[in-house]
Amino acid sequence: MEKARIIKAAVVAVVILAMSADFAVFASAKAFGNQRADRSRIEIRSMDSNIRNGSEPQADQSREEENGVEGGGVKSESYRDQAGEETNDDDFMISVLPGHIADKMNGGSYPEDAAIGLEELRYVQVLHIGFDGRAHRGELVVNQLVAEEILEIFMELYEKKYPIEQIRLIDDYGADDEASMADNNTSGFCWREVAGGGSMSVHAQGLAIDINPLLNPYVKVNRDGSTTVLPPEGKKYLERNGRTPGMIMKGDACHEAFTSRGWEWGGDWTTLKDYQHFYKTSQ
Ligand SMILES: [Zn+2]
Repeated sequence: MEKARIIKAAVVAVVILAMSADFAVFASAKAFGNQRADRSRIEIRSMDSNIRNGSEPQADQSREEENGVEGGGVKSESYRDQAGEETNDDDFMISVLPGHIADKMNGGSYPEDAAIGLEELRYVQVLHIGFDGRAHRGELVVNQLVAEEILEIFMELYEKKYPIEQIRLIDDYGADDEASMADNNTSGFCWREVAGGGSMSVHAQGLAIDINPLLNPYVKVNRDGSTTVLPPEGKKYLERNGRTPGMIMKGDACHEAFTSRGWEWGGDWTTLKDYQHFYKTSQ
């Protein structure tokens, strides 16, 4: 009898200890400023060990399922049947780069010689209205300096039901910008040069976003009179008709969401046009 009581007391003590340990992690996650403690825990634990050292990817299937975003280049599932429903707190989120995202970026959009720290970047999760008129989850990596603004911009685009086909990490395309553009994928950070080469892109600082790039191609008239269109598949969208949903026009909801916050648009350039490209060079 006495022995049983001791065992029982020991079990209770262990349970209390386990609960308080869990609470400490929960509290530190809260203090870290993320909105969802359960996600923060994963991120805090994995961040220090994974950034810049290319450690083994961590399985995080539960989050992928939760996000409705499948890996391996599969387009995101519709998140809700109807667009424009009220959003939850975790539909639009900013966080430090989770370990599995840093792992995905290492050697891809974030090569070894990248002259920006992963700790300067943020992982932004948003909802967007797809070309099917439904809400989908999207994910972006941007500079911490513009993360709040990017969140606001995508909330505004969602509320205004501005159609964006998909927002996936460029690493889902092997960090190949042309492949991402051809798939009309909206993306942010990528350590790369400008189209045509010669200097680093503003994307390499995480201060630029390309929206619906297939419908909004990069267009440059070359000295020999030929025209470079990127992605090449975007040639059929050179006529800026203002009727194609997701085609960015000056003064439309997308243009307004960015420019009202001091972002510039590549469609306003005169020497060449980069209709997909919004960027911010001054804070
Ligand atoms: Zn761009």
